[in-house]
Amino acid sequence: MRIIFATQNKGKLAEIRAILGQDGYEVVSMGDLGLKAEAEEDGETFSENAEIKAREIYDKLRAEGRLEDHDIVMADDSGFCIDELDGAPGVHSARFMGHDTSYDIKNAAILEKLRDVPDDRRGAQFICSICAIFPDGHAEFTEGMLKGIVAHEAKGDEGFGYDPIFFLPRYGKTTAELGDQFKNSVSHRSQALHAMNELIRNNALEHRS
Ligand code: IMP
Repeated sequence: MRIIFATQNKGKLAEIRAILGQDGYEVVSMGDLGLKAEAEEDGETFSENAEIKAREIYDKLRAEGRLEDHDIVMADDSGFCIDELDGAPGVHSARFMGHDTSYDIKNAAILEKLRDVPDDRRGAQFICSICAIFPDGHAEFTEGMLKGIVAHEAKGDEGFGYDPIFFLPRYGKTTAELGDQFKNSVSHRSQALHAMNELIRNNALEHRS
């Protein structure tokens, strides 16, 4: 049984393998199969974008006759949503202020926009949606969410992206100060991956009974 995950990111793949590899699934990336993502991620939601990515890889493998009987094709999409900015940058998280703009600049711009906003209006979340396409072509989804607030200043140098400005009051730290291992254990992606692990486990049980 194989899970083909539409990602090129080695860090993500290790996290995915640790969670989805538990039940005997072999987890391979699209790169391992010599495939590249080309479709535009122009969905309006994280789940739409995850499905666009997964469907592209599923369709390519199917067209080339390389899809095996029990293969599941998966992709994720995630982003940072700020309540005060009506959910922005959201699905545009990677493209916000331009793909090539550094996160130091993006994060400074967000802090400036929220400069006079009090804590009770600084709510934000990281959201991750995962789409799994099953061998018959139907799609199923899971989602994970990590809630926090936008920090008053950037802190910490672990993680990536918006981590230095995402503050978790429960731990008194930004996600860039938590340490990657701990962050991965509570992250939106890990929650969505655990839910997906449950979903495919139940799916496999249903097909056996
Ligand atoms: P992706 O869909 O996982 O590639 O994430 C899209 C974008 O969302 C990233 O380029 C980041 O800007 C943002 N993002 C997603 N997850 C995280 C996170 O855990 N920390 C910081 N930024 C994140």
